[in-house]
Parts: sequence; structure tokens; C-alpha cells
Amino acid sequence: MPRPLVLAAIKSSPIRGDIVTVAKAAVTPMMAQYLEIKADHPDALLFYRMGDFYEMFFDDAVAAADALDIALTKRGKHLGDDIPMCGVPVHAAEGYLLTLIRKGFRVAVCEQIEDPAEAKKRGSKAVVKRAVQRLVTPGTLTEDSLLEARQNNYLAAFSDIRGDCALAWTDISTGAFSVMPCPLVRLGHELVRLGVRELLVTDASDEALLPIVEDAGVSLTPISTGFFDSESGRRRLQDVFAVETLDAFGKFERPEVSAMGAIVEYLSLTQTGKLPHLARPQREDASHQVEIDPATRRNLEISKRLDGARAGSLIATVDRTVTAGGGRLMEQRLTSPTRDMDRIIKRLDAVSASLENAELTKTIRQELRGTPDLDRALSRLSLDRGGPKDLATIRDALDKADVLSGKLGALDAVLLTETQNALAADSSVRADLDNALVAEPPVRLGDGGFIAEGFDTNLDEARSFRDNGRKRILEMQASYAADADISSLKIKFNNVLGYFVETTATHAEKMLSAPLNETFIHRQTTANQVRFTTVELSDVEAKIMSAGDKAREIEMAIFTRLRQAILDEADLLYRVAGALAETDWIAAAAEVARTENWCRPELTSSRDLEITGGRHPVVEAVLRSSTDGPFVPNTCLLTAENGDASIRLLTGPNMAGKSTYLRQNALIVLLAQSGMYVPATSAKIGLVSQIFSRVGASDDLARGRSTFMVEMVETATILNRADAQALVILDEIGRGTATYDGLSIAWATLEHLHEVNRCRVLFATHYHELTALSEKLTHMANATMAVREWEGEVVFLHEVRDGAADRSYGVHVARLAGMPQAVVDRARVVLDQLEKGDRESASGAGAVIDDLPLFSATVASGPEPTKGPHPLVERIKDIHPDDLTPKAALDLIYTLKAEAAED
Ligand code: ATP
Repeated sequence: MPRPLVLAAIKSSPIRGDIVTVAKAAVTPMMAQYLEIKADHPDALLFYRMGDFYEMFFDDAVAAADALDIALTKRGKHLGDDIPMCGVPVHAAEGYLLTLIRKGFRVAVCEQIEDPAEAKKRGSKAVVKRAVQRLVTPGTLTEDSLLEARQNNYLAAFSDIRGDCALAWTDISTGAFSVMPCPLVRLGHELVRLGVRELLVTDASDEALLPIVEDAGVSLTPISTGFFDSESGRRRLQDVFAVETLDAFGKFERPEVSAMGAIVEYLSLTQTGKLPHLARPQREDASHQVEIDPATRRNLEISKRLDGARAGSLIATVDRTVTAGGGRLMEQRLTSPTRDMDRIIKRLDAVSASLENAELTKTIRQELRGTPDLDRALSRLSLDRGGPKDLATIRDALDKADVLSGKLGALDAVLLTETQNALAADSSVRADLDNALVAEPPVRLGDGGFIAEGFDTNLDEARSFRDNGRKRILEMQASYAADADISSLKIKFNNVLGYFVETTATHAEKMLSAPLNETFIHRQTTANQVRFTTVELSDVEAKIMSAGDKAREIEMAIFTRLRQAILDEADLLYRVAGALAETDWIAAAAEVARTENWCRPELTSSRDLEITGGRHPVVEAVLRSSTDGPFVPNTCLLTAENGDASIRLLTGPNMAGKSTYLRQNALIVLLAQSGMYVPATSAKIGLVSQIFSRVGASDDLARGRSTFMVEMVETATILNRADAQALVILDEIGRGTATYDGLSIAWATLEHLHEVNRCRVLFATHYHELTALSEKLTHMANATMAVREWEGEVVFLHEVRDGAADRSYGVHVARLAGMPQAVVDRARVVLDQLEKGDRESASGAGAVIDDLPLFSATVASGPEPTKGPHPLVERIKDIHPDDLTPKAALDLIYTLKAEAAED
């Protein structure tokens, strides 16, 4: 029986209905209104608009003051107790909203929905009407300041109809809307792959969901089961997309319709009836994607490093896109590489064409720079949250699209032609936007002044009245000052009096006496000033005001018309946005291939993985900016024999580069299957269906699992799931337990991969005993990391060679790490004894340890071997080039090279 979910996410304590009833009689009308609205939003903080502030009361105020680090004050009493209160200014509300959302709150934004003057007409005690205009949740953000420009912000819904499950997701800031069948076991993978921010489930969902959602770091929103009803969902979706049947978009199963329907219902709830423009739902096919589980994503550090930082991840290193939309596409492709050969080749062809035209690509990238975010402007406009700047964004993006479509024609590839066609879209609103808007319109609609002169004659006329009126006021000020002979006389404006004449109180008597009192009519006396009006001033004021109001009204009407025209062609505009992102992606993929010297991978349907001169893109970039020497490229040849995939067992010292090598091959596959070139001199890749990686181990103490348990759970997943087209990389499996247990587990794992999974495997280990398996397992071969020992020093060459390592050099690494010399010396002695004991006695380590001299006895084991220059260096020092003939010099080089090779 599924147990209902506990709504753990509620952060603010609800105001109970019974309190509301009591309250109505006992409290002020405003507080009664507050309590009534709050009762409808018990699980959100209520931002209650009062003039220029959003105020919070009761527990909301306590929670928000704490979360925002702002002052908590009091306002009046409720049932005898002080009412805690805090507030944030409306103009700075976005920043506070962001903090609250990041801290896991939901916020209901309650606005004044009528002019206070209207309320006053109902009586002096009447409260201004207010209503919640929007529910702000992590998955429903649209403001640029609340969003990461280069990442999608997904809201998802998971539906489970008697075991048949589906996941739908949308990014309302871009309109993308997708769905896929998704059994519960896959849910965690998909949430992590997409980076979902908020997940909707029914409040009757199984508790088994909780750890999955928590692990994926997603904010969970349980909603009523009614939201997931598939039949009403179907009707709702048909309405939204104005179609008779959803079949036009694909064949959707009941759980898919239910999940999509829940999203639309929830959006309608949080946006209080206004729906963002949603693209037609796309059905994703899981079988087209490379399966990468969350542990593998973490280990490969695809979108963030193990410590959570974005810098140093694969995406941060290889992403050269210059627009926000391009950045989001890059992220999507690298987090969801595909198994669809045609799609990969299409993308690679476009990148090749772009690479071949380096100059043109450079121009395209320059043109793309500064292209504004069309997707997000569109979504704000569709939610009626947009301003004049969003109109300008659409105008500028369309202008860029036009320029770019002219340039793409010179590049020959199917994807480029398709992109060019989309960019060349015939937008009917473009010319209007070009003519209507000033170059840099303001963000806020209320600021006005965004429609260019000459676009609308009525507007120009109203503006000229308004502006001339202002000039007229200045003229009047000069003439009144002269008439009254008061040079400090000013004409000023405020919201209460409108325009008025002002003098200092010292002139009051003069102004209030004849003859001036015939012209100046007294309005107000303050501590230091006296204020007047005149018949003429009132007249001019009325004209200015009405002209100003008229100008504003006309601008608003033009804005509304342009906004509607944009929304009418939203589908076309989203296609343009997609094409701009695609252009950016192609040019960026070409740019990284050109600057980093990457090659075009060859994709096949075999089970080969043949990479020569492969590099790890991130480690290579890090080494380039350090003094540690260049990255050493390595080859990986997993050539299938008689169709059987091969396994490479990698041994070698610590710090020699095993983990780097393992990961670099997985990353090369991932890059290739996202459609990009790869860091190698050549790469032949049999399409990979799944990438599994178990690298390193981190304790998962929060979930009560030890390092070893985590390691075993992840290894079990791999052995149970890896199919014949999978690529598996395993690093030091079994290291988290006693040596013999670990060795046995690693041994059995290798055999299972070889005999049962039969997939491509790179397996790094310190258990040298495993190398013997190459005799028995026909498709397994040994490889090792080359090192050079010289005068007691070990030099890591970072080179992968055939064969097995004989030692781990762990003690050497301990010395490099700065362990006290005494400990290093002692470890060497213990190691020597253990190795000797292993060779000579069957009685095990215990006997050997009994023979060891005490720690103190080895501490003073003598000075470190002295280091001198290498003999070859000595030889070179002795050479006098001036005394050598060219022939003798050449011979000498040959001799030195031969000696170096022997060394
Ligand atoms: P351990 O067994 O201790 O986990 P390892 O053999 O897995 O070590 P890595 O962690 O892969 O070693 O690499 C150690 C360091 O060596 C890296 O941080 C990097 O600086 C350097 N390195 C690795 N591979 C290369 C390479 N191909 N060329 C140059 N430097 C490299």
C-alpha cells in the first residue's frame, strides 16, 4: 500500500481556518483581509503589498526575517498578542525572492488590484482590494535575475498510474515542454540528467519517492491527485494547444497525458490563470539516449565538479558558446548524449563545415555575441510580465537572425541549411518593432518613453503638448518672479497639489496682500514655505496632465498591440530562438575543435573503441595553466574480436594517471555522441548505449552508507544493467575493504563483465594479482602506466603501455605528499619485509610483522640517497659545440639518444 507523502517542504506554518473566523470579528478590516488570503496559501510565505512594500506577518515574518536577515518588528495586536512583521521594498523584491526560493520557500505575491482612490470611494475604512497574482516556486521562475542564463530551469511532474509511470517537464522561461515514459527506477537518472528544480507528484504518492527526489536535490511539491487526472489533463492540453486531439503531437500514453496535464494545471494555479506559451509537447525516447546514471555523471564531473563547483567541470571547460540559448543547448547535449547515429552525423557534418570556413565562423561568432535571450523575453511577455526591453530583445534577436541567415548559406551541411531556413523566418512583427521602438527602451512599462518619435502621430502630438506645457511652466515661473519681484519664486510639482507656486515664508505677507493676491490664490502654508496657485497655472496643468496621460495611454496601447502580435507568432519566434542557439552551438563546437586541436570521431555500429592520442580536456586545460608540463596523450584500443568487446586491465603506481585515462576515454565517447569533435588524434567509436563509471569513493553518511557500501551498490548496478554496447570504467573496485575481500570482489567482477555483460571495460586496479587473469579471460589484456626510476626517484611518464606493473610506488607518493620522513622510512622497511615475507613464507603478514624491528629502530635509518645530476647531463655539460664539426655533432646526438634509450 503506498503511504501518503508527508509535506516536509512546508516552511511557513499555516494560519488555521478557525483563527480566520475568530479574527474576522476581532481584527482590523486589513488584517481580516490578510488572514483570509493567507488561509488560501498556507504553504507559502505571503508577500502582502502595502504601498511600496511587501509586508509579511505572523510566522511568515519570523521565518522571512530570519532567512533574509532583515529586521523583525511588530504591528498591532492579534487576539491579544503582538503581530510580528517584516517587509521588503517592492523595487528590491526580486533579490529577496531569489534568496527565499534558494532557501526552499515558496512565495505568494499578493498585489493591490485597485487604485487606493477607488477604495476610498467605498468609505474611509474600506480596504484596497488585493489578490495573489502569482505563486513563486523554484520551477516557475521567469525573471532573468532569478535564473541562471545558461541553464534550463525545469518544472517536472511524475505520474504513476498503477505502475505505468511518466515524467513530463517544462522550462517556462523558454517554453520547452517534453514527456517520456519513465519507470520509477529511472526517475532519479532523469531528474539528475535534466537538472530538474521542482517536481510535482500527487500527495498520495509512495514514500519510496522521497529519497530519490532528495538525492537528486530537487524541490518536491505534492499536489492534489485531481491535478493528475488523465482525462481532464487531456481536455486541458487540447484547449491549451487548440487541437481536437493530442495525436497530432504523437501517441501519448495515459501516464504521459496525466503528467503533462498536471504541469499545465499547476502553472495555471501558480500564474493565477495566465499560462506561459508552451511549445508543442515533444515525446522523448529513452532508447535514443546514452544511459548515464547519477553516480557516473558525478564521477565524470560533467556539469559540476565533485565538490559542486561548476568551474573545472567538462561543460565549463569545453563550452565556447556566446549566447545564453547556445549555452543551454550545449548543456543539454552534453548531459544527454544520443545513440542516434543520424543525429550525431548531422551535427558532426555541421561542425566540419563550420571548421572548414574558419573566417566565416569567426564572423558568425562575433555577430552572435550580444544576441539577447529571445526565449526568455517571449516567456515573460506571454505571462504578461514583460516590459519594453523584452520587445527590444525580440527586435534585436530577429535582426541578428536575419544577418546570420545570410551568412549560413555559404556553409554546406544539412543542419546548417535547416538552421538557416529557421533563421530566415518571415516575421510579420519585425518591421513594426524596428519602427516602433527607441534604441534602448526601459525595463519597466511604467517608465514610458519607449516608442520612437514618428511612429504614431497621436503620440507625437500628445508628447509635444506635454513637453511644451513644461516649457510654458518655466516661462510662467520667470514672469511670476518678475511680477512679484521675488527672484526665489519657483513653480514646483507634487502628487497632492499638482503644480504650485512656492515662495519662502518671508514673502508670505507680500504675496497674500493686494495686488498680488488677485493673481495668486493661497493653497498651503508649511513651516518655511507658502504655496499658491493661479487660474492660468491650473489651466496649463490640466493640459499637461491630460497630454501626459494621453501619451502614456497611447504607448500602453501600442505595447499591448505589439505584445499580442509577438504572441501570435510565438511558435515561429521560438523556432528562431532554437536556430540562434543551434548556430551558436555549431560555431562553438567548431571553435573548441579548432583551438584545442580536436579530431572528428568516426562512429560505427561495432563494439570497438579505438582512440589514439586521446586527452582529458579538463586535466589538459589545468596542466596548460600550470608548470607541471604538458598533458601526455594516450591511446586506447578496445578492438572487438569476433564481435566480442574487450577489457583492458590497467595497473600502475598511484598518481601515474590511471583515473585520468579512464575518465578521458569516457568523456571522449560522451563528446562524440553529443555530436562534437573529440580531444584525440583519431577516434573510432562503436556507438555506446550506456556509460558507467565507478571512480573514487565518497562517503554517503547522510544516507547512512559507508564508502564500501556505496561502492558495492554502484558496482552491483553496473553488473546488473550493463548491456553489450555499454562502456564501463571501474577504478579500484574493492579497495574499501580488507585486501583479500577486495581482491576477490574485483576478481569476480572482472569475470562477470567478461563472461556475462561482455561489454567494453577499462578497469584500473592496484591488485597486481588480477593481471594473471589475462591468461584466462580471452578478451582481456593488461596495460600499465609507465614510470622511470632514477636514483631513488620515480618519474611518472603518464604513458599507457601494454603489460602489467610490478609495483604501486605508494610509499613514494606518500613522501611526495609531505609525510614525515620517519614515517616514510618506516613504511619502506615494512613494505620490504612484507614483500619478502610474501615471497618467502606462506604464513602471511602476521609472521612478517613479528620479525620487523621497532619503529624507533628504523627512524634513524641514515641520510637520503644524495641526488646528483644525471650522467647524461654531465656529458652534455662537457660538450664544446664550437669544437665540433656538423658531422661530429650529429654523431654525438645519435650516441646521446642511444644512451638515453638504454637508461
Ligand atoms: P591514484 O592511483 O592515486 O588514484 P591515478 O593513477 O589514478 O592515481 P590520476 O589521479 O589520474 O592518477 O592522475 C594524477 C595526476 O597526474 C593528475 O592530477 C594530473 O595532474 C597528472 N596526469 C594524469 N594523467 C596525465 C597525462 N596523461 N599527462 C600529464 N599529466 C597527467
